[in-house]
Amino acid sequence: MSSIRFEQNLSLKEKPDASKLEFGRTFTDHMFLLDYTEGQGWHDPRIVPYGPFTLDPAAMVFHYGQAIFEGLKAFRTKEGKVMLFRPNKNAQRLNVSNERLSIPALDEDAFVEYVKALVEVEQDWVPSTEGTSLYIRPYIFATEPCLGVRASKQYLFAIILSPVGAYYKEGIHPVKINVESEYVRAVRGGTGFAKTAGNYASSIKAQEEAKEGGYAQVLWLDGKEHKYIEEVGSMNMFFKIGGEVVTPELNGSILAGITRDSVLHLLKTWGVPVSERKISIEEIYTASLEGKLEEAFGTGTAAVISPVGQLHWNEHTMVINDGKIGELAQKIYDTITGIQNGTVPDTFGWNVTIGE
Ligand SMILES: *Cc1c(COP(=O)(O)O)cnc(C)c1O
Repeated sequence: MSSIRFEQNLSLKEKPDASKLEFGRTFTDHMFLLDYTEGQGWHDPRIVPYGPFTLDPAAMVFHYGQAIFEGLKAFRTKEGKVMLFRPNKNAQRLNVSNERLSIPALDEDAFVEYVKALVEVEQDWVPSTEGTSLYIRPYIFATEPCLGVRASKQYLFAIILSPVGAYYKEGIHPVKINVESEYVRAVRGGTGFAKTAGNYASSIKAQEEAKEGGYAQVLWLDGKEHKYIEEVGSMNMFFKIGGEVVTPELNGSILAGITRDSVLHLLKTWGVPVSERKISIEEIYTASLEGKLEEAFGTGTAAVISPVGQLHWNEHTMVINDGKIGELAQKIYDTITGIQNGTVPDTFGWNVTIGE
C-alpha cells in the first residue's frame, strides 16, 4: 500500500498493562484518515499520529448526524501472528450503512487494506494474553460546514485502535436483561439495520433505566406491535427452545451481526436445527413456563457470546438454565474464540493474517 502516506509519531506512548485495560479508553500511537470531497471522491489515505480533529462548528455531523461506524478485532496467535476476523464482512456492512445514510460508498477491498495497513503499523499494540485483542473502530462522519438539510459533500473516514482486555476475566457470567416495553430502538423503514450513531443516541435512555433497575442490558421489541424480539444493546439474540435454535430474522430493523452470521454457520455445520424467524416475547414466556427455554444468549464482537441468565418482562421473571451458561453457548464461544486466536482450525477461511 505505497499509496498510503505515513507520518511517524515521534513520541510513542507506553504500552498499557493488558490486565488493567478498560474497554475503549486507551488508544494507539497512530490513526488512519481518508477524505471525501464531492467531485474528487475518496482521497489522500494516510496514517498519522493519533490526535484531535479540527472541525468547523457548522460541520454537518454535529447538526444532522450523518455518522456510521464499524467494529472488529485483531488477535495475536501463540506463534505471534496477528489476525483479523472476517474484515470483508465489515467492509460490506459499512457500505450498507453508508447507503442508508446517503454517505458515498467506499471500495471494500480498499477498506480491508486500510485496516490491515494501520494494524501492521501498530502491531506491537496487539496484546497477547488470553482473551485480549486490539479493537478496531472504523467510522465516517459528515464534515461539510453547512446548515442546509441535505447530504454532506465532504466526509472523513477514520480508523482508531484500542487494546482491550479479556471480556470475561472471571469466567462467563450470565446477565439479567430487561425486556423494554415502552421505548423502541428502530422501526421498519428506519435505520435499524445501519450501524449509525443515532441508533445508539436514542437507546441510551432505556439503557440507563434498565441499569437503575439492576439489569445489564435492554432487550428491544419491534417498534410497531411491541411483540417480537429484535436485539439487545449491541448484540443479536439467540434462543434454544426444545432443542431448536431460533434467532430473529433480518427484518430491516435489526443489525446484521457478523458474530450472528458466524454462529449460524457453525450451527448449520454441526447439524443443530436452527431457524431465522419472527419470535414473539409471548413465545419465549410460554416456552419458559413449559420448561422448554433451554438457553438464551446475545452475540457480538465485544463479548462474542453473552449468556442471559434472567429475562424480565413486565411482571414476569424467566430464569434460564438456572442462571448458568448453556452447553451450546459455551461450545460456540470456545469455537469462535479458538478460531480467532488460532487454536481451532479456521475451516471457513475467516481469518486474515496481517503482513500477508
Ligand atoms: C454491532 C452491532 C451488533 C453486533 O454485530 P457484530 O458484527 O456481531 O459485532 C448487534 N447489534 C447492534 C445494534 C450493533 O450495533
